[in-house]
Amino acid sequence: MNRNKREKEYYSIDVGDSTFMVLKRYQNLRPIGSGAQGIVCSAYDHNLERNVAIKKLSRPFQNQTHAKRAYRELVLMKCVNHKNIIGLLNVFTPQKTLEEFQDVYLVMELMDANLCQVIQMELDHERLSYLLYQMLCGIKHLHAAGIIHRDLKPSNIVVKSDCTLKILDFGLARTAATGLLMTPYVVTRYYRAPEVILGMGYQANVDVWSVGCIMAEMVRGSVLFPGTDHIDQWNKVIEQLGTPSQEFLMKLNQSVRTYVENRPRYAGYSFEKLFPDVLFPADSEHNKLKENVFYCCSECR
Ligand code: AMP
Repeated sequence: MNRNKREKEYYSIDVGDSTFMVLKRYQNLRPIGSGAQGIVCSAYDHNLERNVAIKKLSRPFQNQTHAKRAYRELVLMKCVNHKNIIGLLNVFTPQKTLEEFQDVYLVMELMDANLCQVIQMELDHERLSYLLYQMLCGIKHLHAAGIIHRDLKPSNIVVKSDCTLKILDFGLARTAATGLLMTPYVVTRYYRAPEVILGMGYQANVDVWSVGCIMAEMVRGSVLFPGTDHIDQWNKVIEQLGTPSQEFLMKLNQSVRTYVENRPRYAGYSFEKLFPDVLFPADSEHNKLKENVFYCCSECR
């Protein structure tokens, strides 16, 4: 495509601290969030006649880790098709040659809020169960496709006002994994499983740990393991769940094991203490109504 034609197709607009250069079909851009990879805007797509979300990957080729993560996200988003995983509608770059190639824009379905915002709300039993069910359906699908997320957290889960839920990204690229004794960088670790925190081998159940932490937060109204840094994250886990067994310690590499063995010993708290019944939300009005329905005979139930 020649330069003139291309320039006519794109326009540039400042959103927050960033400048978006997008196709003219996308109008009315407004910032709605930002993550490790860049800024996200809502926009109206005149071709599809619907609202969309546009994510500008910030400098995706600045180093190998960023490039691999961007590539992984793009490839997986294109392949995975499930109602609880965010769908990719379009992808484009305004640059026209490989030498200039710098920005990647991902166009996705637009949702209303991320789970951090929803956790603050008083959810009834029915909504809480439905949100959890959808998270589990989403990760079940990822696991069936051989993808282990390893970094599920409320900020990368988005919901709509009708209580539908989608997982936003595909987690840690293998190159971005960190161990306990590696240099910390700013990232939310509250939901990471011990295997990930301690840099051990891991399986799909690390994602079930994350969903458990998210569920706990929804029930308790506060973060279950609020580590202040990557070392404290481990302290918070053992304070509440107890020091792990010798069998678990034997799986750690020597330097991490020495660190873990030298922590004070904790017995941990019982499930009843961590999650007293009073914390669980009440049934919704809708369910109460169902319970109170008057049945004329046992066949009607
Ligand atoms: P990300 O960079 O993918 O982690 O997204 C950062 C934030 O932008 C999320 O926590 C959401 O609040 C918001 N966001 C990203 N994608 C969408 C979307 N498709 N719909 C609604 N909000 C989104």
